[in-house]
Amino acid sequence: MHNVVQEAQALQEELVTIRRYLHVHPEIDMELPQTVAFVKGKLEEMGYEPKVVGPSGLSVMVGGKNPGKCFLIRADMDALPISEAADDGCRSTNGCMHACGHDFHTTMLLGAAKLLKAHEDAIQGSVKLMFQPGEETIHGAKSMVEHGILDNPPVDAAAMFHVAVGMPFPSGTILVPGGGAYSSASDHFEVTIQGKGGHGAMPEHCVDPLLVASHLYLALQTIISREIAPADTGVISIGIIKAGEANNIIPDTAYMKGTIRTYDPEVREFILERVKAVSTGTAETFRAKADPHIIEGCPAVVIDDQVAADIRATLAAAFGKAVINPTELGMPRFGGSEDFSFITQQVPSVMMMLSVGSPDEGYPYSMHHPKAIFNETVLSQGAAAYAMAAMGWLAKNH
Ligand SMILES: [Zn+2]
Ligand SMILES: [Zn+2]
Repeated sequence: MHNVVQEAQALQEELVTIRRYLHVHPEIDMELPQTVAFVKGKLEEMGYEPKVVGPSGLSVMVGGKNPGKCFLIRADMDALPISEAADDGCRSTNGCMHACGHDFHTTMLLGAAKLLKAHEDAIQGSVKLMFQPGEETIHGAKSMVEHGILDNPPVDAAAMFHVAVGMPFPSGTILVPGGGAYSSASDHFEVTIQGKGGHGAMPEHCVDPLLVASHLYLALQTIISREIAPADTGVISIGIIKAGEANNIIPDTAYMKGTIRTYDPEVREFILERVKAVSTGTAETFRAKADPHIIEGCPAVVIDDQVAADIRATLAAAFGKAVINPTELGMPRFGGSEDFSFITQQVPSVMMMLSVGSPDEGYPYSMHHPKAIFNETVLSQGAAAYAMAAMGWLAKNH
């Protein structure tokens, strides 16, 4: 498959042009009209007939000339509501930014589409390409699963790449983790605390919701420190506390909102229940009422060890020492969340990372930073890696 790498290199300039178009036209969440029209057009130029799968989702099939299984490769296409401050010559000006590198993922998967089309006769089975919206808002993958992305033909295994920037890996490093939970489940919660407002000099006539919020802020952390085993992990972070207008008025209500990250489904369920119980209990202790709501996000990405091992071997044959297993380096987990987890719940899958710039190389900012810049020279490698992951797995699992 070495010629796939060379063929991808020949596409490098074209991939840069595609990536820059996507980068200066970022769109967010579940409505990506310009992005979808652009991607659809590119796929049609290659001879595909893209299928619409749910709002702003696209899929195409390639292969099927030889018997075999169906392997899915996925890219997300959405950006973030961040005003771009990067100075890399293709800054977006519409108030949104591809700060998470999803423009890279889309470009790389388009490159893979072209490479796979050129090798269609050699594919042992078929490859399904998934272009999804709404990853940042955790709606896209779930919506595409509900609209049948894993059916007709049924998908046997799946893979995805996420770029990594500002991390201590040289450009072109490919991380293929071992089996188990890799990215965390992500859920949110909000609590409205109903007290009784009044004069700041007469607290005896009031129920102070700010006092409750203060106790609750600390009490929620004790779920992590005192109620789950040291071997289990979880994070509760409260990002918003709002209450009050004036220094001498006790407000009526206080509002808190936070995020919960876990790796184990049982720990996840336990923490979600305890956040509700600790909220209502703490409020009752101080004569207030709490109304906690859990907004479920996505589960943890769980990697299939065998799919990961198969693809790691294929990619190592092409890219040598650039392919590493972070689990063996003592980095079995990735701190963020990924809605690809809705795919990993259904079929054996792997989530991989591709470094597109380290601080040493002049890429100091990480994903989601308004000044983040990304190393475009890696685009062709990413396209080749997507195509080879699919072809390699299909050949091995024939
Ligand atoms: Zn992101
Ligand atoms: Zn992302």
